[in-house]
Amino acid sequence: MSVDIFERCQSYDSARTAREAGLYPYFTMFAGRDATTARLGDRDVIMCGSNNYLGLTSDERVRAAARAAIDEYGSSRTGSRLLNGNTPLHEELEQELADFFGTEAALVFPTGHQTNLGVIEALLSRHDVVLIDREAHASIYDATRLSPAKTLRFAHNDVADLERLLLRCPPDAGKLVVVDGVYSMGGDLCPLPELVEACRRHGARLIVDDAHGVGVLSKGRGTASHFGVAAGVDLITITFSKALASVGGAVLGSAVVIDYLRHHARSQIFSAAAPPATVAAALEALRIVRVEPWLCQQAIDNAAYVRRELGRLGFPTVPGSAPIVSVPTGELDQTLVMWRTLLEHRVYVNPVVPPAASPRLRASFMATHTQDQLDRTLAAFVQMRDALVAA
Ligand code: PMP
Repeated sequence: MSVDIFERCQSYDSARTAREAGLYPYFTMFAGRDATTARLGDRDVIMCGSNNYLGLTSDERVRAAARAAIDEYGSSRTGSRLLNGNTPLHEELEQELADFFGTEAALVFPTGHQTNLGVIEALLSRHDVVLIDREAHASIYDATRLSPAKTLRFAHNDVADLERLLLRCPPDAGKLVVVDGVYSMGGDLCPLPELVEACRRHGARLIVDDAHGVGVLSKGRGTASHFGVAAGVDLITITFSKALASVGGAVLGSAVVIDYLRHHARSQIFSAAAPPATVAAALEALRIVRVEPWLCQQAIDNAAYVRRELGRLGFPTVPGSAPIVSVPTGELDQTLVMWRTLLEHRVYVNPVVPPAASPRLRASFMATHTQDQLDRTLAAFVQMRDALVAA
């Protein structure tokens, strides 16, 4: 008897059930720009569900740079950088990124997800061991699936557990540790100085995915700079799809390793180059971070205000120093009801449910949120709680 692999599609009904209950939270359609308010149907809502931490996707300078790149280079290079897709813009961005982060070199990829896939897979052989934080981003999990190395997972932010696993690795195995700088679902930072020390002690290489730290922490220079341990981190992977107001990714490190990756990272070699407009937007956003570092602090301060006030109002929050405020909720259904009730009160946050992370509401803040918007967001949380108690 043959098995029809589409059978699992026919029996998949979670999305339909959620839609029927009016609790389907995905693929919401927003009109207009990604700013502190968003147009949802015929209503404006306060946007606390975007990673546009500095508010730069709407910045006139960023939009002008993207337009100029389209005029000069067209809409796409329609090919990989290795062959016909490379432009002076890609290389300018690499040079400015390396200069900003103080590394010898950088390599730009079409997305942050592809950066992690390409870098991690290219570096590992079947004799190696890769050790990742249990709460590492999905792209790191995906990269370990592509790689032939043995994968071990250590408890979240638990350096003692990492060391226990490092001690179990065969003495002749190459070892790579991969963590997030800032965990996207909790907004908590990794214990980077201790991780650097553990890697040094055990002869392991260390990669930090700093998607949510770059452009925010330490005047935009990210988690390694925040902790003052940049020299102890072997490679940093970043994305342009958050503070840098674009789409794309990059890896930063020594010239030798970056040159190797340039010629071995499959997700870069076998995928079309990031379009000129997105590269130009990221480059302009980076230049703005350099000259307006107060934007980074404003995003952090806005989130810190909401985190502190939510705590005062009796909401649990995950401690953190990034522009992410994570509010644990308990149950999946309850999370969706809370999300919908907040939306009824005109505040859009992200509902997070397993397997992404334990159930929670994830609110993220921009440098451009006004005090009034922050206070209205807090008021909506209180109204949401009152509505649920009354129900
Ligand atoms: N790493 C982390 C920690 C992320 O949060 C994300 C995006 N959610 C990525 C990598 C992937 O980035 P991109 O959107 O550029 O593919």
